[in-house]
Amino acid sequence: MSAPSRSEYRVVIVGAGVIGLYTAYHLARSGAGPILVVDRGFLSSGASGRNGGGVRQQWETRSTIRLTRESVDAYRHFARDFGVNPWFRQSGYIFLAEDGAELERLRRVHDLVRSEGLPSQILDSAGIARLVPGIAADVAVGGTYLATDGTLYPFPVVWGLYEAVRNLGVEVLLGTEALGVRTTAGRLRSVTTSRGTVSTSTCVNAAGGWSREFSERAGLTAPNAPTRHEILATEPLKPFLDPMVVRARDGLYFSQTMRGEIVGGVSPSAHAPPTLAMSSSLAFLARMAGILVRILPSLASVGVLRAWSGLYDDTPDGLPVLGEDPRLRGFVHANGFGGHGMMLAPSSTARVARMILEERVDLDPAEFGPQRFDGRRVPHAAEALQLG
Ligand SMILES: Cc1cc2nc3c(=O)[nH]c(=O)nc-3n(C[C@H](O)[C@H](O)[C@H](O)COP(=O)(O)OP(=O)(O)OC[C@H]3O[C@@H](n4cnc5c(N)ncnc54)[C@H](O)[C@@H]3O)c2cc1C
Repeated sequence: MSAPSRSEYRVVIVGAGVIGLYTAYHLARSGAGPILVVDRGFLSSGASGRNGGGVRQQWETRSTIRLTRESVDAYRHFARDFGVNPWFRQSGYIFLAEDGAELERLRRVHDLVRSEGLPSQILDSAGIARLVPGIAADVAVGGTYLATDGTLYPFPVVWGLYEAVRNLGVEVLLGTEALGVRTTAGRLRSVTTSRGTVSTSTCVNAAGGWSREFSERAGLTAPNAPTRHEILATEPLKPFLDPMVVRARDGLYFSQTMRGEIVGGVSPSAHAPPTLAMSSSLAFLARMAGILVRILPSLASVGVLRAWSGLYDDTPDGLPVLGEDPRLRGFVHANGFGGHGMMLAPSSTARVARMILEERVDLDPAEFGPQRFDGRRVPHAAEALQLG
């Protein structure tokens, strides 16, 4: 591994996951440079190589619907734009409601999604059974379905971005840790890495589940909280399931990949030990298997091939943190994506790039900016549909 080739960069990005690489891509395409991206791990070692590949536009906030809708467009063209096919498949997302109160909540989401011009549908239990063949009769009283939601393979997205940014002249150093920053008079001056210090006026914190740690290395408190989420893949089955299936109560989600595997996870149990280790646990395997078999009894005889885990980078209000930190000029946040960074990446990083280039951005700083956590107010849970 080599040291940075220059002593000074226009922008230094910490983290070569989907967020850091997409930010670099938008910046480089706008002619901003030179750009350095550092990652202490290997490509796809973070959450960007460990997720369920879900891309949906059903949300409780209008701004998130708009961002994910734009991301859907970007992923539809990703293969053409990047020369790498992420196999984005618009085969829909179903949210299951177990009772009337959940259905009422989903109905409000449905109304908002439809008001944005997207073809959301309300399903009864018969409609769900048509789209999820073999689902147990008593699992859902109804739900919502959006046919233009979908799934993709995360690895080709990261590979495509990695190749694209390097072709645009971005320097990407893997196995290189950002140790801290140097500042004078409340302004960023340089970033110290494990391979030397480089001068820059702009550093982007795209460190995913470690974004809080890196903010603290820059002397800033942050509200972000890393949470470990486990996920598994079964042996391949004959294709039978098109949509991603999500349940509000416990955050269960699963889909069938084009290779035939069922891939899915569930929100961590309240009894899960507080660890951020990138391992998988027998407790998760047993719990997830029990839930899946309860919903789709025919899965009882199917073997699990792999299980793994990754970090969500959660924020108190369920929205990402995008923009310059008012306490340190030049320190830019692109983090706090929870369990939804793949689907938010193309559109939200385009805004981060525009902010760095001091162009107009159509996001409300009160909703997405770091200043909303200034300690005087407790941000409310704006986007609570934090599932699948
Ligand atoms: C189990 C699971 C399922 C998920 N399912 C979905 C889904 O279906 N759809 C969806 O949209 N999202 C999903 N997500 C969330 C999504 O994966 C993340 O939001 C997204 O990948 C975040 O990308 P990132 O680039 O911010 O972080 P990461 O991909 O984690 O990248 C951050 C990088 O920063 C590096 N880094 C950290 N600190 C430093 C440092 N000091 N110096 C140098 N490098 C550093 C790390 O090595 C890492 O590579 C899921 C996540 C998990 C864990």
